[in-house]
Order: sequence, then C-alpha cells, then structure tokens
Amino acid sequence: MTHASSPSSLHDIVSCMSDYDPHALPVTKAQDIIAQFITPVQAIEKLAIRQALGRVLATDIVSGIDVPAHDNSAMDGYALNGSDLPATGVRDVRIIGTAFAGRAYHGDVGAGECVRIMTGAVMPASCDTVIPQEFTVNASDDQVGIPAGKVRTGDNRRLKGEDLANGKTALQRGKILRPADLGLLASLGVAEVPVQRRLRVAFFSTGDELRSLGEPLDEGCVYDSNRYTLYGMLSRLGCDMIDMGVIKDDPAELEAAFRSACENADAIITSGGVSVGAADYTKQIMGKLGDVAFWTIGMRPGRPMAFGKIHSQGKSAYLFGLPGNPVAVMVTFYFFARQALLHMMGADAAPLPLIPVISKTAIRKRPGRTEYQRGILTTNTNGELEVSVTGSQGSGILRSMSEANCMIVLQHDQDQVSAGDKVTVLLFDGML
Ligand code: AMP
Ligand code: MG
Repeated sequence: MTHASSPSSLHDIVSCMSDYDPHALPVTKAQDIIAQFITPVQAIEKLAIRQALGRVLATDIVSGIDVPAHDNSAMDGYALNGSDLPATGVRDVRIIGTAFAGRAYHGDVGAGECVRIMTGAVMPASCDTVIPQEFTVNASDDQVGIPAGKVRTGDNRRLKGEDLANGKTALQRGKILRPADLGLLASLGVAEVPVQRRLRVAFFSTGDELRSLGEPLDEGCVYDSNRYTLYGMLSRLGCDMIDMGVIKDDPAELEAAFRSACENADAIITSGGVSVGAADYTKQIMGKLGDVAFWTIGMRPGRPMAFGKIHSQGKSAYLFGLPGNPVAVMVTFYFFARQALLHMMGADAAPLPLIPVISKTAIRKRPGRTEYQRGILTTNTNGELEVSVTGSQGSGILRSMSEANCMIVLQHDQDQVSAGDKVTVLLFDGML
C-alpha cells in the first residue's frame, strides 16, 4: 500500500481508526497500521544487469528499440506470399534463395516463388507466411510442394516489435528483477540499470536463557535459533544484515544494542521479550527510545508484537519486536515484517497469493483470530491439491516449519474445518 504523505506518528494513525484495541488487534488491522507508517528509503545505485538480480528496479525501463527488430520466421521452412497457398491439392513453387538467421535474403520473391528460411531469419520483402518444412512434400534443390490446408496467410511470422515495441515501458519501477527480466534487459541492449540500494537490517535475540552456537548449553538454556531463521528470511529478501548476536535481559546492554542498531540500520528486528513475562526490559527500552506500540494480535502463533520507530543520535529506524517462540518469529516475520521491508525497499510487492485447497483432515479453529498452521500440500489421485497439518503445531516446535511446504491460513472469522472443506494455503517456495 502506498500513501501520499506519511503520518507523523503511530498515534496519528491509530486515532483515525474507529475500534483500535492494542490488546486485541486483528491481523489485517496491524498490517494496515504498519503499511501506513512505513516510508521507502530513497537511494539509488547503478548496477550491471547480472548484479541486479533480486534487486528492486528504481526507474521504469523504456524500450529504445523494437524487439524483434524485423519480421522474422518462427520456423524452419519456406517463406512465400499467402496468395500462393493452394486452396486444394499441392502447388509446386520455385525455391529462389535461402534466408539464414543473421543473413537475410534481399531479392524479390514473386508469384510461384519461395525462399528457404531458417528460424529467426528476417522475412524477405513480399513474403508474409512460412510453411514449416515438415508440411512440405517432394522438396528438391529448386522446387518444393506446398499442400493445401496446412497453414494460413501470416502463419509462423513473428512481427517486428511484438515482444517489445520501441518507446513502450518494458519494466516498471519497483519490480524485483527475476531471471526473465535480466534476459529482457539484455534483449533491449541495456547493460546497466538503476536499482534501490539494499536495505540494512540489524537483528538480535533477547533472553538470558539463550546460548550462541559454540557455547556450552547450561541447564535450562536453549540455543538461539531465531537469528538463523531471521538470517535466512532476510537473505532471501536481499537485505544487508547486521547480526548483533544475543543480548541479555539487562537494561544497559539492551539500550546500547537498540541505539547501535538504530544508528546503523534502516530497520531493526528483535525476537523475544515482548510478551508479559517478568525480567523483560526489552519493552521498557523500546518504549523509552521512540514511538512504539505493543500489540496483542488476534493470531496464533504470534500474539505479542512491538512495532514502531526508534531514535538515537539523530538517526531513526523502524522496529519490529517479534515474539520469542521460534515458529511465532517466522509467522510474524512473513505476515508483518516481510511486506513492510519490501515497502521500505521501494518494491512493488503484492500480498502473497493464498491458494484454496482441500483439507484432508478436520482442523480445530475458533473464530476471532487468524491461525497459521504448518501444512504439507500434495496432489491426490484426482489431480487436486490437498493439505494436511504437520503433526504438533506448538509455537515452539520449529520442526513443524521445517517439515511443512506451506502455511495453512485460517482466516479471522473461520470456524472449525471438517475434512474435505476448502482452506487457503501459502506456498513456501515457488521457482527458485
Ligand atoms: P519470550 O518471548 O522472550 O518470552 O520467549 C518465548 C519463548 O521463546 C521462550 O521459551 C524462549 O526461550 C524462546 N526463545 C526466545 N528467543 C529465542 C531464540 N532466539 N531462539 C530460540 N528460542 C527462543
Ligand atoms: Mg525472553
């Protein structure tokens, strides 16, 4: 979502909402507030097209040429004028020359004549049709038989500019460049493109119980896994990352970490410390450093989340305080942070597509919150897509995410799901 002018504070945004309740905020409302508060970063760099893969295009690219530059053949065969196609039987026509890709035939082609032509070769003047080689009969060096009914006038001719016409917009700003786009840019002869600079995202984990890899796992402690899932998700978005490690539940350490993150990054993502537990100074420090809302979101997993903008030494950064539970971190990242980061990058990112599929089993669900279950999508013997849940769905069970190939999204108002009902899913991976 884009907004002409960005409101100055979260308070301004929520005061325009009729039924804003930070303690029971529906997912869509939270997404809306975030979209209204975020503004894109403004900085552009020029990159060679290979380096631009996965980056956000910063200006429209207008084609300076026609692609293809000439009418040309889509097949190996014989170019002729459509008026020479017989209505019945077979007509023998004289072969007067050959057109190769990159080497045109420049002579005139008259009635009863044709030119042997290769795929990609420029169409000779006065030819508008190509009959593929395999449809012809009795071909010799200087004559070929054209049977009736195989092609119509204009067939197998690629038209000048049919891929991209000179002066037309080939790619729009905000597009995240995919392999096809690199090829398209090359087809226009474009070697360099302006892209948005990478977003800098600082992230750290909070909690006295967290141990980093390589440290001994003391009693009651767990390895910090959230920084690794965050690393993976941020890498895929193409962010520059500042991994700040584990920060203890200590006010001075937390404040120093938030300030440093704020001074060096566009956005900060933390995990843990935003629920109602004691010994959590995280929320206190977040609140002290800026304009931060603490939400309980109508979702599962997830629920607690902090969002806002903090300031230090004249610098500011958007803040996403995600919950600590490993599945909750991923779900809140995908459904809140991801879209916001793409918006900050200047990317024109449509919401992720939800696909309706059949649920293989019953799923417990009550209306009033959005639930994200981890699913395995398969194709049944009728060729239909169906989904089943990946066993235990606890918000601490990261294995459920690892085993899943999709997220089952059960909407806010949805009630119980029976086996055979339709549910919506979001695929984790498309074509990589
Ligand atoms: P919190 O939101 O800080 O109350 O944490 C909720 C749960 O998530 C606790 O069981 C934490 O131990 C766990 N947790 C928090 N941060 C991490 C992390 N970085 N890696 C793995 N588990 C975590
Ligand atoms: Mg904690």
